[in-house]
Amino acid sequence: MAHVSVPMYWRTIPQRYRMIGQKCRKCGKVVFPPKGVCKYCNSSTEFDEVQLSGRGKVHTYVLIGAGGAPPEFEEQEKAGGTYPVAIVELEEGPKVIGQIADVAPKDVSIGMSVNTELRKVYSEEGVIRYGFKFVPEEKVM
Ligand SMILES: [Zn+2]
Repeated sequence: MAHVSVPMYWRTIPQRYRMIGQKCRKCGKVVFPPKGVCKYCNSSTEFDEVQLSGRGKVHTYVLIGAGGAPPEFEEQEKAGGTYPVAIVELEEGPKVIGQIADVAPKDVSIGMSVNTELRKVYSEEGVIRYGFKFVPEEKVM
């Protein structure tokens, strides 16, 4: 597979998939994905847009094995067996849940540095759904 540089990668995807978070004008925390009301101070509805770096660290993770996958991941489970799903704490603060790609499940560890990429998550009725996945900052394969 050809290597695609990150800036090029981002330019080729629709804007709605860019990681835009909201910085609360009241408490200063960054909310992602965007919400109507700040989930931290629960009172502010005023935000400034911030571009998230997509970098973060694995906060916790779970290995999803045979039979444990939600239906939308079934196809993937059949293809790849066990796969890791993590909660990643982004540099800017928000915690995001997603699958970790490009790494053997045994090599995932808490505190591991990851980047966020837009990947094909699954296809349903012929429509490919995209979503964020995390990939290790340093390849360990
Ligand atoms: Zn707030």
